[in-house]
Amino acid sequence: MLAMNYRGPYRVRAQHKSDPVIEHPGDAIIRVTRSCICGSDLHLYHGMVPDTRVGHTFGHEFIGIVEDVGAMVTTLEVGDRVLVPFNIFCGSCFFCQKELYGNCHNVNAAATAVGAIYGYSHTAGGYDGGQAEYVRIPMADVAPIKIPEDIHDDDAVLLTDALPTGYQAAEMGDIKEGDTVVVFGAGPVGIFAAKSAWLFGAGRVIVVDELEYRLDFVKDYAQCEVVNFKEVQDMAIHIKKMTDGLGADVCIDAVGCDAAGSITQTVTGRLMKAQAGSAIVLHWCINSVRKGGNVSIVGVYGPTFNAVPIGNAMNKGITMRMNQASVKRHLPRLIEHIRAGHIDPKAIITHRIPLEDVADAYHIFSSKLDNCIKPILIPPR
Ligand code: NAD
Ligand code: ZN
Repeated sequence: MLAMNYRGPYRVRAQHKSDPVIEHPGDAIIRVTRSCICGSDLHLYHGMVPDTRVGHTFGHEFIGIVEDVGAMVTTLEVGDRVLVPFNIFCGSCFFCQKELYGNCHNVNAAATAVGAIYGYSHTAGGYDGGQAEYVRIPMADVAPIKIPEDIHDDDAVLLTDALPTGYQAAEMGDIKEGDTVVVFGAGPVGIFAAKSAWLFGAGRVIVVDELEYRLDFVKDYAQCEVVNFKEVQDMAIHIKKMTDGLGADVCIDAVGCDAAGSITQTVTGRLMKAQAGSAIVLHWCINSVRKGGNVSIVGVYGPTFNAVPIGNAMNKGITMRMNQASVKRHLPRLIEHIRAGHIDPKAIITHRIPLEDVADAYHIFSSKLDNCIKPILIPPR
């Protein structure tokens, strides 16, 4: 089959490799009909995730048609149209019973607190991903869901990660009626976090990015205010000015370790300039939220990132919540929101690129060329 193939930082290509097979009676094989590239794939592409091996196929956002099932699979049949949450989880451990699927204890427990993820390096289990013609689904009875007939493929593929992650970012912010919510990052995750903030009762939503085309999109799509951080000298002071001197009730980090920008902050009257490396958005969240406010983090951080202003966080008494999204937990509610017309996920798709041009797709999405927001890869046939 044709599959995306990692060759090293900033080097990927489409290449033939053997078709996946049923390795365990609980497995299924899915013929992929659509897959996306995610901001999380860019951390792999940029070489920021350890143990990303040459030959690995990325892709944790995909849908497809069941091609084959193992003898133990009872809930799926050949021909079913399914969406597969990005988390690989057992469904029965202590954490899965609490619907913390991203923290499954049985899959990949040895490596980290994180559960396994399709196509996300050997740090996250080493499972090949869905930027391919076919993909093997372990424990196929647990995570995949049949896509309801009235849900479009383009919406379904965004239900595998980007939409539930943005939604969970808003949920973890514990937004109260009328709250002011600041979302850092106007990528797919930030766009959906901003849209979801209204569903949780926000009174005001502000999105921060530097890319004008994304700010223009989110302003219209999520009916929010926008701030271009390139035009701001001190983010915390700017947000305080926008919020009667108090700061935002909730700040959401939808950027993670690839953050651009720099930190200029006023500490006890003195202007401090710090080079914060990859923790810029954490600084901005902690310093821009009001005392007693909430910081919600879904941005992914690789193992090397600089110190965060944890002392400020303590002194302000803020609540910080973070996690991998528990995709399956949100699906029934999000499908209802799509049906009710509250949210149109597919509107963020800007590019449809054949799988064989995967190298171009990564380049366009990574460099934010051609007003790219969300590219999807279409396998041959
Ligand atoms: P993306 O790369 O498309 O978007 C990131 C955006 O952040 C870009 O528009 C960029 O211009 C902007 N940005 C950069 N520096 C910034 C700054 N200092 N302030 C504000 N904006 C800044 O990525 P995406 O697909 O939207 O993903 C966003 C983050 O969410 C990534 O870190 C990704 O790994 C993470 N993620 C987490 C989960 C989870 O389960 N926790 C799931 C999916 C994605
Ligand atoms: Zn993703």
